[in-house]
Amino acid sequence: MNLYIAGGCNEHGRNSFLITGDSYSILVDCGAIEDDSYCYPYLTKQQIQSIQFLFLTHSHKDHAGAVNWLIGNGFQGIIICSEETRQQSLIKYSQWQILSLPVQNYNRFTISDNLYVTYGKSGHCVGSLWYLLNFENKSILFSGDYSEESSIYKCDKLSGLYADFAVLDCGGGNTSFDNQDNRTAIRSFVLESIKNNKIVLLPVPKYGRGTEIIDLFQDECEELSIYLDEILACQMTKQYKSWYKKTFSIPINLLNNWNGVPAVLFASDAQLSNDCTQALANKVIGLKGDIVFTGHIYKNTYSDFLIRNNMANVLDYPVHMGYSQVVKILKKNSFRKVILYHSPEKIENNRESVVEATVRSKLSI
Ligand SMILES: [Zn+2]
Ligand SMILES: [Zn+2]
Repeated sequence: MNLYIAGGCNEHGRNSFLITGDSYSILVDCGAIEDDSYCYPYLTKQQIQSIQFLFLTHSHKDHAGAVNWLIGNGFQGIIICSEETRQQSLIKYSQWQILSLPVQNYNRFTISDNLYVTYGKSGHCVGSLWYLLNFENKSILFSGDYSEESSIYKCDKLSGLYADFAVLDCGGGNTSFDNQDNRTAIRSFVLESIKNNKIVLLPVPKYGRGTEIIDLFQDECEELSIYLDEILACQMTKQYKSWYKKTFSIPINLLNNWNGVPAVLFASDAQLSNDCTQALANKVIGLKGDIVFTGHIYKNTYSDFLIRNNMANVLDYPVHMGYSQVVKILKKNSFRKVILYHSPEKIENNRESVVEATVRSKLSI
């Protein structure tokens, strides 16, 4: 059995992992990347057409953004994921297997005699799952984007599990960071700007850290004016009981109704790729407000342009594991071999189980 890295190791984006056994070819995630002239996973037509199952960990573009490309190149298998991931992905396709939600413990779904999957919530966004595939007597774990420290999203923690191979999120790289410090930095910056009568714009992804950052201001929401676009407002009002650790009580104003007064604005377009959010960013800059980016910014986007021209601030909000958190996971589980993905930089580590892998590596399981 082989594990082929079609993307996602030593790069941020294009996450895509192909497992080829005697009976099936299985793809886990099919993401796109924006930092490269070629944005799709490195899969040939022949590889694509032989895939029977595509597991999606979540809907983010770096995990599901190349599924339409996959379908266009002859994929005819079954897509397996949570219902929320299916809805968020906006993929038009006829063959889905929707996994029922883990309530308290891990769930298991059997596909055939020699393929079943154990899965749990990965703490990254609504709909995000990790998968432990048991395939032809081998076990392979995919953490997806994984965080045990989210203030909002429930996580079924990886613990006491065995895997022959584990593909683990290490998007935080080697930098040792304290999630609480990062959160405090964003909160203090925004409150200081508001104290100085400024507008603050936070462009965030559609699903994921946006709600966590909004929640940072739960205690001040009476005094602060917080404006959200419709996608974010909908997630605050939906109160996804299966995915959220808490309920929200923040009064919501819609961004469409913002009239230029000092306020905290959230727009679900992290890279500022839409004309409307670009215009909003320009308006905020014109009114001498602050723009704060809180996650990975792709090169040559409007967000990248603003950062390069010192017109915006960058304060990372942690939604991935860094190496120190990976080590904690390794201590709680038994993984024979480990691949770290999601970091553009090489991860320095002292663990024998960690295997070097890069884009287009083929490893035998
Ligand atoms: Zn993600
Ligand atoms: Zn990701």
